[in-house]
Amino acid sequence: MSKLTEKVALVTGGSRGIGAAIAKRLAADGASVAITYAKDASAASAVVKAIERDGGKAIAIQADATNAGAVEAAVEKAFATFGRLDVLVNNAGTAIPKPFEEATLEEMDRVIAINVRGVFVATQAALKHMKSGGRVIMIGSAVGERVAAPGLVPYAGTKGAVKMFTQALAREIGSRGITVNNVQPGPIDTELNPAAGEWAVPQKAATALDRYGNVDEIAAMVAFVAGPESSYITGANLTVDGGMNA
Ligand code: NDP
Repeated sequence: MSKLTEKVALVTGGSRGIGAAIAKRLAADGASVAITYAKDASAASAVVKAIERDGGKAIAIQADATNAGAVEAAVEKAFATFGRLDVLVNNAGTAIPKPFEEATLEEMDRVIAINVRGVFVATQAALKHMKSGGRVIMIGSAVGERVAAPGLVPYAGTKGAVKMFTQALAREIGSRGITVNNVQPGPIDTELNPAAGEWAVPQKAATALDRYGNVDEIAAMVAFVAGPESSYITGANLTVDGGMNA
């Protein structure tokens, strides 16, 4: 028996980057997996096919994190398709890096809508179906605690909010046997934060390991938190950042 056999996971923003790696890893550990995506249906379908090719079960659901009704419907569809919901990974997120004084209010609103409001909606909807043993896992960020590079003021503000959302919710739903944890990646090579980009130079330099991480290094931590061995961990901020915040 794999660690997540008979479990069902929903990964928001699971079509690319860190979310796609999480979806594949949870499926490899035995879970049936639903992913959401905003725009790229073909990328989402490629993740589903890769999971099915390896003998797993997966579905992709279009649900923009800024659209509360769509996110709630995605949670209901995941539950209806697989008959239960054990793990929610709040991964959908975005950053609009630029100097603070050039950032617009519209950009701030968008980052809040996806990174914070979207987490509120998905988590509330998922908790209706979760039973004891359930796992709520945030993908926050190392910059939710310490900021080593410029250009990330709105983003860091939202990831700091995710950190406290996690800690407050862990207190509230611990009595139901559900854990809430916040995995905080450092710089991970994805389309959002390419290891070759202009913004990469100070981020890489700030790590102790002097490199970007890869998506599987985040998926490994999420798989641990989703699994049975993390049963006494809740309200924790689990930083996977190559020593950036050391
Ligand atoms: P990517 O931009 O590479 O992938 C983002 C994923 O989220 C895609 O599947 C995308 O789907 C989906 N997505 C984007 N916007 C929305 C939306 N409005 N609604 C629903 N889904 C959406 O990002 P990463 O993989 O790099 O980041 C994933 C998470 O990890 C984010 O929360 C990010 O803040 C966090 N993180 C990333 C770090 C990094 O260095 N990469 C560091 C720290 C944290 P589609 O293509 O269809 O829009």
